Amino acid sequence: MSILDILYYPDPKLRDCAKPVELFDQQLAEFADSMLETMYHSSGIGLAATQVGVAKRVVVIDVSEERDQPQFLINPEILSLEGEEVSEEGCLSVPSVYEKVTRAERVRFRAQDKSGDMVEMDAEGLLAVCIQHELDHLDGKLFIDYLSGLKRQRIRKKLEKEARLAQA
Ligand code: ZN
Repeated sequence: MSILDILYYPDPKLRDCAKPVELFDQQLAEFADSMLETMYHSSGIGLAATQVGVAKRVVVIDVSEERDQPQFLINPEILSLEGEEVSEEGCLSVPSVYEKVTRAERVRFRAQDKSGDMVEMDAEGLLAVCIQHELDHLDGKLFIDYLSGLKRQRIRKKLEKEARLAQA
């Protein structure tokens, strides 16, 4: 396992559309474990492979307080969405930005685990929001895309400035 580098907005690779995983081998398992380690290391509750520059449909999530209930979602798919909920979201690729986003309140989804077995699940609350947020990443979509263009531009300028200061 290793800590992977997280890409920051506006890195163009965050816009890549990830491809389905076809081979469930040791390499995939190790990559998924490294993603989980990277997510814990950055105190995140979810991480998508596109955020570490790998265009594969792999997501790791852990919304538990004890940080001991990891979920590996490979080739995840939303089957149905229900209700509406507004909550404040953040993203490891858009550091220190938190904004309100409207999402479905409940989701039914399916995904494969590290061995390729398919599981179907229901989620609500924080987990439902997190799943919708992470699945967006696999299609190159960020939570700030739900905000107004003006707000997004402001965020972009702020992050570009911070990146320049970090380099100086
Ligand atoms: Zn994110």
